[in-house]
Amino acid sequence: MSENIEKVKCLIIGSGPAGYTAAIYAARANMKPVLYQGTQPGGQLTTTNEVENFPGYPEGITGPAMMMELQKQAERFETDVRDGWITKVDFSGSVHKVWVNGEKEIHCDTVIISTGASAKYLGLESEQKYLKLGGGVSACAVCDGFFYRNQEVVIVGAGDSACEEAHYLSKLCTKVTMLVRRDEFRASKIMAERVKNTENIEILFNTETEEVIGDGQVVTGVKVINNQTKQSHLIPATGFFVAIGHKPNTDIFKGFLDLDETGYIINAKPGTSKTNIDGVFVSGDAADHVYRQAITAAGTGCMAALDAERYLAAKDSSFEVSTSTYN
Ligand code: NDP
Repeated sequence: MSENIEKVKCLIIGSGPAGYTAAIYAARANMKPVLYQGTQPGGQLTTTNEVENFPGYPEGITGPAMMMELQKQAERFETDVRDGWITKVDFSGSVHKVWVNGEKEIHCDTVIISTGASAKYLGLESEQKYLKLGGGVSACAVCDGFFYRNQEVVIVGAGDSACEEAHYLSKLCTKVTMLVRRDEFRASKIMAERVKNTENIEILFNTETEEVIGDGQVVTGVKVINNQTKQSHLIPATGFFVAIGHKPNTDIFKGFLDLDETGYIINAKPGTSKTNIDGVFVSGDAADHVYRQAITAAGTGCMAALDAERYLAAKDSSFEVSTSTYN
C-alpha cells in the first residue's frame, strides 16, 4: 500500500447532527472516528436562527451554536474532526476507498454517511439576502413557524411538503398565502384538499415570486406575478417559506449505493442504518425525506455508530463491542 494512503477504522462524512452524534458514539466505542466536515460545516442547521425543539435546550439555542457544542462534544472523546470534503468513493471492493478534495486517499473499515440534504431555493437575490440575514426566509416550517405566530406568511410550492407545511403554519399564523406556479397541485389529493379546506390559507394558482420585499433587516412582503395575466401585486407578510423540495447530497455514491429516484439512500434493512454495501451505513437526511429534523438525524447517527461497531466486532473478534455505547 502506498505511504500516502491512510487507513481509518470509521470514517464519518458530514458534520450535521447525524455526523456528530455518530462521532460521539463511535469515539466512545474506541472506533477512533475521523470526521470530514464537508462544504457546509455544521450542515443545514447553520442556516437556522433559533432551535427551540431540540430536547435539552429549554431556552432554545441558535443553530450555529448548537453545532459548535456538538463538535466540542465529539472532540472531547477524541474524534478527529477535519476540514475537507469527500469528492469520490469506491465501494466496489472489500476495502472502502474514499478520496478527500480529489487528492488524499483513505481506506476505511466502516463508513458512516451523514451528508444530509439541501433545501432547494428559488435563487432570487432578495430571497438569498433575507435568508442570510435570518430575517424571515425559511425552508422549514416546523423549525421556524413558531416565530411567526399571529402573523401573515407566504409559502411557495405545491407538493406534499408545501401542503403539509402550509397546514402546519395555518395553525400558528393568522393568514397563509400559498403560491402555486401552475394551475394545479403536485401534492396528493388528500393533502391538497386539506389545504383547500383550511379557512386561513389562500391559494394563488399560476402565481410566481418576483421579489421578497423587506426593510433591509426583515421581510415585510412578497411581490408576486400572475404568469397568465402578467399582473403583479404585493402581499404583506413577515415570513417567506420555501417548500419546493430537497436534494439529498448523495451524488458521489451513485453506482455504488441503492438510491431512490430523488437520490435518497435506501436502507437495505428497514429499521437499521445499513446500506446495500456491508460496512457502509447511512444516517440523517441523506436517507430521510419524511422527518428531516435535527433530533431524528441525531437518532439515526447513533444507530449508524452502533451498527458500525457491531459490524466491526463480527468481522474482527479482537474488536470488542464496547459497553460504553449502551450507557
Ligand atoms: P416535490 O418535488 O413533490 O414538489 C415540489 C413542488 O415545488 C412542486 O409542486 C413544484 O412545482 C414546486 N416547485 C419547484 N420549483 C419551483 C419554483 N422554482 N417555483 C415555484 N414552485 C416550484 O417535493 P416535496 O418536498 O413536496 O416532496 C418530496 C417527496 O416527499 C414526494 O414524493 C412527496 O410525496 C413526499 N412527501 C410526503 C409527505 C407525506 O406523505 N406526508 C410529506 C412531504 C413529502 P410543479 O408541481 O409545478 O413542478
